Amino acid sequence: MSETSTTKACKTSHYDVLQVARDATLEQIRKSYQALALQYHPDKKRTSNVPATDESDHFIRIDQAWKTLRDDRLRRIYDAELMQQTEEYFVNEVLTEADFERDEDGNFCFHTCRCGGYYILPEESEPGESIYVSCDECSLVVQVNLGKGS
Ligand SMILES: [Zn+2]
Repeated sequence: MSETSTTKACKTSHYDVLQVARDATLEQIRKSYQALALQYHPDKKRTSNVPATDESDHFIRIDQAWKTLRDDRLRRIYDAELMQQTEEYFVNEVLTEADFERDEDGNFCFHTCRCGGYYILPEESEPGESIYVSCDECSLVVQVNLGKGS
């Protein structure tokens, strides 16, 4: 087994680097890549306070991420690696109860996923707990840190 140890140490996935969802389409990834590549291209003079070296490093990561994710086969291999690294859950966001809205009938609390689906807070959740809620449309999971009592 040949292994690249570079991805193991850092928690940022190619999806994070390209600011797209795990289930983003190639077109979404391409758009994001193009926007980010423009923004971080080392040739581009920026007046930000980010050191130039960080910017070119970041550009390399964007480029690597794109080269992996644009290739269907490489993407599948990468996804599998990612699944192993992240154990059971891929936590997309860490939220609190305040990020959830109650629906009109007051029956449940929900948070809208970037895919348009919903994260629905389970009723039987214990105060003070950290729970994982998965989107009802896509494979994303959010961690919800529940308040202590209410
Ligand atoms: Zn979703």
